[in-house]
Amino acid sequence: MFKVKLWGVRGSIPCPGPETVKYGGNTACLELRFGEEERLIIMDAGSGIRKLSEAILKKDLPKGPIKTSLFLTHTHWDHIMGFPFFVPIFIPGTEIDVYGPVTYEDEGLDKIIGDQLRYRYFPVKHSELSADIRYHPLREGTIDMGDGLHITTKYLNHPILCLGYRFEYQGKSFCTAYDNEPFRNVFPTDPKQPGYDPEAAAEGEAAAREENEKVLQFYKGADLLIHDSQYTKEEYLASKLGWGHTPFETAINNAHKAGVKHLLLFHHDPNRTDEQLEELLEKYRKRIAGKSDLKIDLAREGMEYTL
Ligand SMILES: [Zn+2]
Ligand SMILES: [Zn+2]
Repeated sequence: MFKVKLWGVRGSIPCPGPETVKYGGNTACLELRFGEEERLIIMDAGSGIRKLSEAILKKDLPKGPIKTSLFLTHTHWDHIMGFPFFVPIFIPGTEIDVYGPVTYEDEGLDKIIGDQLRYRYFPVKHSELSADIRYHPLREGTIDMGDGLHITTKYLNHPILCLGYRFEYQGKSFCTAYDNEPFRNVFPTDPKQPGYDPEAAAEGEAAAREENEKVLQFYKGADLLIHDSQYTKEEYLASKLGWGHTPFETAINNAHKAGVKHLLLFHHDPNRTDEQLEELLEKYRKRIAGKSDLKIDLAREGMEYTL
């Protein structure tokens, strides 16, 4: 048994309201369950973790103290802001292992997460929490979680260190690739631009292609892929280059190329209404109809998948 449930699917900032009620206004949070005992793994602590917290208190707490691992893709605020509202941190006996990439050596995960729990921001201090919370900086690599679950991590392209995750369990694979922007050539490519050097331009092109290929290989053949798709290609090229996110078109093309079975478009822009999201989905579904076996859907709060 390997299940994935979505508790937050938005990017950047929570955006509740009538225009986002269908797909949800909470930021990134996923619940993963595996094995006979339905062991719990949490991905990201965006605002969606508050509702997950309620569900855990009902489902898991009656069976005994909560033990879980929280894997962070990165520490941008939309991915950690829900942590102070994750109720098990206030319950004695709770054990939480928090994993995530650390960009600045002098600031560990404990400080980045813990600084949200200071009196100037929140009524409880991190040092006053009842749970046993252990922090583990994470790099690219593999982790054996026991009971047959293996996790592989891969650096993505984002303004700070950010990891994609690949979960393998009994021949099934679930991957995440957010927040991520396609790697680009860092050298000038137009001969009219100052500093143009044809050799450097060609090298930069090859390096970007190679890095993008590595990301593709990382989620190759995934049964389920959750991919960043904050912008349309038009929006991206007009004003969002370097913001660290992927256009819909690129996410869909890459998932198709990588032989992914089911793609969930994720990290919806907070300004995008439910209606606009559905219009985009229809457009892209039509575009790939008959050309690809890839199944595409919009990530929606409350969706649950069994792999
Ligand atoms: Zn984000
Ligand atoms: Zn981010």
